[in-house]
Amino acid sequence: MLNIVLFGPPGAGKGTQSAKLIEKYQLVHLSTGDIFRANIKGGTELGVLAKSFIDQGKLVPDEVTIGMLASEVNKQSDPKGFIFDGFPRTSAQAEALDKLLESKNTGISMMLALEVEEEELRKRLLIRGKDSGRADDQDPAVIQKRIDVYNAETMPVKGYYSGQNKYKGIPGVGEIDTIFDALCVEIDRA
Ligand code: ADP
Repeated sequence: MLNIVLFGPPGAGKGTQSAKLIEKYQLVHLSTGDIFRANIKGGTELGVLAKSFIDQGKLVPDEVTIGMLASEVNKQSDPKGFIFDGFPRTSAQAEALDKLLESKNTGISMMLALEVEEEELRKRLLIRGKDSGRADDQDPAVIQKRIDVYNAETMPVKGYYSGQNKYKGIPGVGEIDTIFDALCVEIDRA
């Protein structure tokens, strides 16, 4: 199986590139942010809980996020592989993902990390907030909180995968297709 962790700060372009990658490589796309938003829209218990954290720019607690992700992985019968988008975001999530995949006799093939500097992220998120109506993209304080949480809680996940020689950084600024090509080069090399 080809199992990719697509990594990067809020606004790095993970969703955009995931859409292109799943088409080319026939992978299952699991975006924890998308799944939370679908639950919020559907008014589920999980959605109500997630919203209380998302609106403040905080992470949804690990046990909730890990349980949800595991049940999504288990739903797939014979996948070619997965793109994990927005997961893992903490070291505990990374360890849980390794255990889950190990129990299925597979593992993470690589982490592809989109690298974008903070000033550009703040700009992109505000534009997305206007276009998409996403509440967490409209408030500069919530955007800053998400960037701070990323630096404090999510950056260690990079060390987790580089310790396994699986980390590959890709510049996330420029044309969408150029970035996509750079991601494909890394995947095809593996
Ligand atoms: P972005 O990366 O653009 O901030 P996402 O759509 O990936 O947005 O996530 C939106 C929000 O959902 C996050 O700010 C966070 O509150 C929550 N979330 C998403 N993925 C996770 C995760 N793996 N662990 C905890 N919370 C998460």
